[in-house]
Amino acid sequence: MDSTLDRKAAEAAFSFLEALRPAGLPGAAGADSAWAWLGGSDFHRLCGGLPDPVRGRYGLKGARACLVAALAYTEGPSEAPAWAGGGRDGLAGLARFARANWYAEMLRRLGLLASGARDKVLGLGLDPGPPTAWRTLANSGLPERALALGAGLGSRGLNQLLIAGRPADKGRLGPGVILGLLLLPFDPADFAEPSSLGKPLEGLGPGFLDPVCPSCGACVAACPSGALDLQGGFKREACVQHWTTRPGDLPVRIEAAWGRRLYGCDACLEACPYFAPRPEAYPAPGGLGPGLPVSWLLSAADGDLKKALKGTALGLGWMPLEAWRRNARLSLKAGPLFDDSPGKL
Ligand code: SF4
Ligand code: SF4
Repeated sequence: MDSTLDRKAAEAAFSFLEALRPAGLPGAAGADSAWAWLGGSDFHRLCGGLPDPVRGRYGLKGARACLVAALAYTEGPSEAPAWAGGGRDGLAGLARFARANWYAEMLRRLGLLASGARDKVLGLGLDPGPPTAWRTLANSGLPERALALGAGLGSRGLNQLLIAGRPADKGRLGPGVILGLLLLPFDPADFAEPSSLGKPLEGLGPGFLDPVCPSCGACVAACPSGALDLQGGFKREACVQHWTTRPGDLPVRIEAAWGRRLYGCDACLEACPYFAPRPEAYPAPGGLGPGLPVSWLLSAADGDLKKALKGTALGLGWMPLEAWRRNARLSLKAGPLFDDSPGKL
């Protein structure tokens, strides 16, 4: 399928989207998001190493460029959901990015962008191509962070996270963001001012050429399992988050560093001075709160667990229930996630 837009349609779509860009993604009040373009040869170069099945799955053949978006996540609800008993007692912890379905929220907002641009083109009597040529993706198998760096959406920290926002941005989003993509059937590099686009990649790209991470080392010190180092290195096999989705026995060092976690690890995020909780950010659907009760996880039937987690960030079906229960059992060895007794923080 060649869904490339003709130039007039492409320019109309671009000007519509570019006019919205300073306010970030549509769909909520407040500057909780940002996005940038990535076109020209950079988009295909960064996706060039992907195997054909992956390229086919994500419709890269018809894509000419992409819009890379960052959405800041909030604390999520303050208690476990009512269907899991509510409250804060006996919880195993969820990383912030999983406390609500920010991915669904990202897709909703990217969908608003796509449909708005398509309506604009249609309103001018032009052809925006099929809806499938405007593909929205979040938590995909595409190199989202590399694309974000290439688009100039932020810098990479020693904690390996995208620190979203340029150094001059007073409203920096920081490292507490999820990323999403809108694949486009046109390339803004064909007609837009270069200043509107992500800078051409040189070496490691603008995120690296314009770094904001001062290598303060707080994330390295906070990592419970020694996965990070001050030279920017990252050992995936030493990262607790990497193991939370994998069933079976864990390496001794990972088990020793586990703590009260159920899914994910926020230690290197929370240590970063660029991270700040954003209670004003839009409440995404599928709210789970800071954790889920261990007793519920260990006693609920498989079908009930799957049903309860459907529509949440944990309901994607990629993580075996065996791993959930292993994580819940491990978390029992640590102290409580919260101690709400008087005098305790
Ligand atoms: S997610 Fe946790 S274990 Fe992994 S690098 Fe960050 S602090 Fe270390
Ligand atoms: S904690 Fe310090 S070293 Fe780590 S990513 Fe943040 S600014 Fe960079």
